[in-house]
Amino acid sequence: MKTILVAGGAGYIGSHMTALLVEKGYDVVVADNLCTGHWQAVKGARLRVGDVRDGAFLDRVFSEFPIDGVINFAAFSLVGESVADPLKYYGNNVTGAVSMLTAMKNHGVDKIVFSSTAATYGEPEKQPIEETDRTEPTNPYGASKLAIEGLLKWSDRAYGIRYAALRYFNAAGSNTDAGIGEDHHPETHLIPIVLQAALGKRDHVGIYGDDYPTADGTCVRDYIHVRDLAQAHLLALEYLDRGGESGPFNLGSGDGFSVKEIIETARKVTGKPIPAVVEPRRAGDPSVLIASNRKAREVLGWKPERGLEQIIADAWTWHQGHPDGYGD
Ligand code: UDP
Repeated sequence: MKTILVAGGAGYIGSHMTALLVEKGYDVVVADNLCTGHWQAVKGARLRVGDVRDGAFLDRVFSEFPIDGVINFAAFSLVGESVADPLKYYGNNVTGAVSMLTAMKNHGVDKIVFSSTAATYGEPEKQPIEETDRTEPTNPYGASKLAIEGLLKWSDRAYGIRYAALRYFNAAGSNTDAGIGEDHHPETHLIPIVLQAALGKRDHVGIYGDDYPTADGTCVRDYIHVRDLAQAHLLALEYLDRGGESGPFNLGSGDGFSVKEIIETARKVTGKPIPAVVEPRRAGDPSVLIASNRKAREVLGWKPERGLEQIIADAWTWHQGHPDGYGD
């Protein structure tokens, strides 16, 4: 396994994947339409600008490079937007996956690591969440990813394309060595918003509800360093290359932190006051999401190495050095 296609490799998690593969000596080809990604985030890899829904574009990429495996990040991922515009989400995410699998089948590529999400579970039946728990997404984003997991399963049976569907919990942090980080427009995620408030780019952080059934009333999430996430993808690819069995894997730390705990930790890490104001709940937020990462540990040999302070410290380094993100 030498040449890896990273679709969506100019985005937040995809660019961290690209950096890790380059560091490990792989030849990396990034395919990205740059609609949410940034060309500046692609370092040490070939970039081909195009849309994964475009079969002719993918045919050109697969013909130009001897691709051994695919990691697919190319997708829309905003929960709120998906509720307002489900056609956009099914249209892009599902069509993109169909197109990618078609190209893989036609070009004889038989391994894919796919970005899935904890949103496939919907309202969890228990904590921590295991891969075998009920999957009943409560928004079109999660539903589009679960639909693709179904397609992957059938494609494995029909065409022998093996897959790892990695169900991310809350990705955060940055790669301070590579000088890449998180830059979304608009930004909706808690940790970047908290750090923008620390930089004075926002007056305050809105806490979306403090009447949840949790210890301090705010939502609890499982935050995982983006470099640990990237490492899990590499392990998953190597696992598939060894002939490992297809399936879903949770990627989380196994620990939960409340919104208030995140803000408090960010105050400690940055030394800034970070004003916070309680606001109404955001629609569709489950109160607690914590991963069981037992399967990824046991089957992939993965071990998250960076805790919450490191996550926030690395994100802070990125935001301080790039207050306007990539500036594009
Ligand atoms: N959150 C918040 N204020 C914000 C952004 C997020 O209180 O400005 C909360 C949100 O309700 C959720 C948690 O922070 O409970 C993490 O939200 P994020 O959007 O980062 O990730 P999600 O869990 O939705 O994938």
